[in-house]
Amino acid sequence: MYIMPKSQARALAAALAEDYDLHGPVLREESGEPMFDRVEDPAAIRLEAAIPYNPPKSVVFPQAERIMSYRYDREAKTVSLERDDLVRPKALVGLRACDLNGLLCLDRFYLGQEYVDEFYRDHRKKMFIVVNNCVRPFPQCFCVCTDSGPAAREGYDVALTGDGDDYLFEAGSEKGQALARRLGLKEAGPGAAGRKAKIIDASIARFDAEATENKAWISRVMNRITTGFISNDIWEFIGDQCFECGACSFVCPTCSCFNIEDINSREGRTDRMRSWDSCSYEGYTRMAGEHNPRRPVEDRRNKRFFCKLSYSQSRKYLRPGCVGCGRCNRVCPGDIGIANVVTYIRREITKAGAK
Ligand code: SF4
Ligand code: SF4
Ligand code: SF4
Repeated sequence: MYIMPKSQARALAAALAEDYDLHGPVLREESGEPMFDRVEDPAAIRLEAAIPYNPPKSVVFPQAERIMSYRYDREAKTVSLERDDLVRPKALVGLRACDLNGLLCLDRFYLGQEYVDEFYRDHRKKMFIVVNNCVRPFPQCFCVCTDSGPAAREGYDVALTGDGDDYLFEAGSEKGQALARRLGLKEAGPGAAGRKAKIIDASIARFDAEATENKAWISRVMNRITTGFISNDIWEFIGDQCFECGACSFVCPTCSCFNIEDINSREGRTDRMRSWDSCSYEGYTRMAGEHNPRRPVEDRRNKRFFCKLSYSQSRKYLRPGCVGCGRCNRVCPGDIGIANVVTYIRREITKAGAK
């Protein structure tokens, strides 16, 4: 482990900007809100900012992306294909542990199964990740309930942990070690690991009662969802509150669903576009002939909670599909973000137990 003065954070970002396209938390000029974005100026990265409103998934899974183009020559009856080559490596600086775990969930989905998604793989390769461990949680956070934070355990090149005027700098890869040498960092000494553990323990102790209470309940809720012991009344109650806006899927670092559409241009070219989709939309499961097996909104809503909290998903991906970032709770106009849903189900279980 090394020591890096906080004043050197800009030098770290600048060093990475020489070899990578830089992405990180920035503050919106108009509102001061933290957003995760591509940055040209390394000084724009704000490591001290709260968790950004948007997750970093758009870096590897853009909201809308042309995955190929083709032209059909009617005379010759031939098709010519074009494909964009993605070559620029990317550095993600200042990721929080929950968002890094979200990225690892996407890796398992896009790269860890029989079919490997080559578009995702192209974005993901040659990436440099600097995670910023949370020395205190933000109000909506509940990563302690989903084992996703506040400190990262794997998947990073560098992990930073704030320690007064310094960061404890851990290299998680050869690239991370090389960056430490390039920045001329000093070794942190033998007590550093213990100091980091204390800082993270203090951060965990700061999670509010609701998050820590839900910690005990997440596994019971997963059990109930998996075994079908949630009454239809609860799913209807949750479904009735859904505005079908899709915001929960779009801000979720682990949501991976997409749609594919061919868009014709006037020049005779057709662009095949991949764009984010949401299981809350009525058209999500619509089939040819207009048949839709999940037309009622409660059928669509419980799909989301199965995806995030059912045991079958956990068994497949070795963890819950939720990383506890709390963004869906913050954006949902119907008050049915994951933390609230766990609370609703918890109340139902408690009520049933009391009978
Ligand atoms: S959910 Fe945890 S890891 Fe994510 S920002 Fe909050 S405290 Fe940090
Ligand atoms: S954010 Fe809330 S209201 Fe909107 S689709 Fe998601 S669950 Fe429904
Ligand atoms: S389900 Fe909600 S809290 Fe969980 S990872 Fe997605 S946005 Fe974050």
